[in-house]
Amino acid sequence: MRGAVMHAPGDVRTEQRDDPKIIHPTDAVIRLAATCVCGSDLWPYRGIEPVTRPTPMGHEYAGVVEETGSGVTSVKPGDFVIGSFMASDGTCEICQAGYQSRCAHVEPVGPNGAQAEYLRVPLADGTLVATHGQPDPDLIPGLLAASDVLGTGWFGAVAAEVRPGKTVAVVGDGAVGLLAVLAARELGAGRIIAMSRHEPRQKLALEFGATDIVTERGDEGVARIKEMTGGYGAHSVIEAVGTQESMMQAIRSARPGGHVGYVGVAHGVQLPGEELFFAEVHLLGGPAPVRRFLPDLISRIENRSIDPGKVFDLTLPLDQAAEGYRAMDERRAVKALLQP
Ligand SMILES: [Zn+2]
Repeated sequence: MRGAVMHAPGDVRTEQRDDPKIIHPTDAVIRLAATCVCGSDLWPYRGIEPVTRPTPMGHEYAGVVEETGSGVTSVKPGDFVIGSFMASDGTCEICQAGYQSRCAHVEPVGPNGAQAEYLRVPLADGTLVATHGQPDPDLIPGLLAASDVLGTGWFGAVAAEVRPGKTVAVVGDGAVGLLAVLAARELGAGRIIAMSRHEPRQKLALEFGATDIVTERGDEGVARIKEMTGGYGAHSVIEAVGTQESMMQAIRSARPGGHVGYVGVAHGVQLPGEELFFAEVHLLGGPAPVRRFLPDLISRIENRSIDPGKVFDLTLPLDQAAEGYRAMDERRAVKALLQP
């Protein structure tokens, strides 16, 4: 099969890879209908995470079950399925509590390389969720978004305790931040402040339900949020970047007693204990337990009440994966969809 492989920072090639096979009885192999490049794929692409050997890329997937192991009972060949970037058994106490991304038997899907024609998904029963019949082709981008960016933005909003009528600030205007705006709207937020300085992204944020745009960042951004909330700060803040600056911006934008949901993968973030102590805010974050939200998200996409597929502003054949990375790295694209 064909698949995208990163050889070094800045060097992604679509090349011949071995066809995935069932290794464990709990595995499934799926034929991808669509896959995509993630903002987190840019960390190694930019050399911020090391690339020590040729690495199959991609952890977002939607497609049709091709084959299942002998122990798989919840999905069958021919089913259209979506799963999270973290495979989970669905049965341990952590999964049962809704934190499937930290399952006691968790297995990241990424090392199997979802930017490809086929993908082996471990722990298929706990991981994959089938759609209600074959989806219309125009729904596939949205379903693919549910695999990570929508599920992650949604978790950010849930972790930030977004509630009807509350004021929500979103730090970060990548795909996750934009879809966190959409999640906040769906969860009934009264006011949604998107922090973005890029015009096309501001436009999408407004389409997804943002009521206000703040272009300032850092301390100036915090001051703007305070000004807009009677000096209090937002009830809920979603952090979707993962840098020191964005994390502090998020914590400082929340009011005492408020909630911060942080879903940007932290890179070099260090929290000052004394400031945190006196901030008196709730913090919850981590790799999103996307699996918790998938059945609900799939239904919302199927009944067309949400269209998260709009985050894909570039569609390329899988063979041009390298251009997808380049376009996202240069911020010419929010998110690139790859067609196997
Ligand atoms: Zn588990």
